[in-house]
Amino acid sequence: MKIICVGRNYAAHASEMGSDVPEVPMLFMKPPSALLVNNKPLYYPDFTKNLHYEGEIVLKMAKNGRHIDINHAHNYYSEIAFGFDFTARDLQAQCKQSGTPWEIAKGFDNSAGLSPFVSLESLKDSNEIKFRTVLNGHTVQAGDTKDLIFSFDHIISYASRFFKIQIGDLIYTGTPSGVGPLKIGDLLEGYIEEQKLIECEIR
Ligand code: MG
Repeated sequence: MKIICVGRNYAAHASEMGSDVPEVPMLFMKPPSALLVNNKPLYYPDFTKNLHYEGEIVLKMAKNGRHIDINHAHNYYSEIAFGFDFTARDLQAQCKQSGTPWEIAKGFDNSAGLSPFVSLESLKDSNEIKFRTVLNGHTVQAGDTKDLIFSFDHIISYASRFFKIQIGDLIYTGTPSGVGPLKIGDLLEGYIEEQKLIECEIR
């Protein structure tokens, strides 16, 4: 199982990071050991002083495939989850500045929070999925997948040119604007539409 992630997939988030909107999906990966499930707490890592949350919609791949045509990509997933792409923003900034890979900033242990899955069929409109990150009771990110720069199907088609898509792979599809820092004692929650799917305490 692998975890494919997309960076800068909402224009307002690219802008808040001072980044240009990419011309093709910007992919990176987290290792399977990054997964944090069952509402387990996240222990603030000792290697960062600027841990950020990024709330995202996650796709679970249900078929194997390579070079998947964008028009067929919707056949490859039927369930989504809410995920947190936890990021050591200070390390990421150093990596960006030095032009080095950013796995230590993005793929560390427990950096991939993941909720249970819900079926796309259960949602009102699978092209306009509303999702929210709530921090200590306040909504800090309100996303809508209609604002994706690269659609779910575009991401899958593009990624499958480089990486064989395998059953059980996860795709973190990018975060909307409103990312921010965490501190010990914070409580994060993630909603898809009106359903709370995940919570995570920072310890
Ligand atoms: Mg992200």
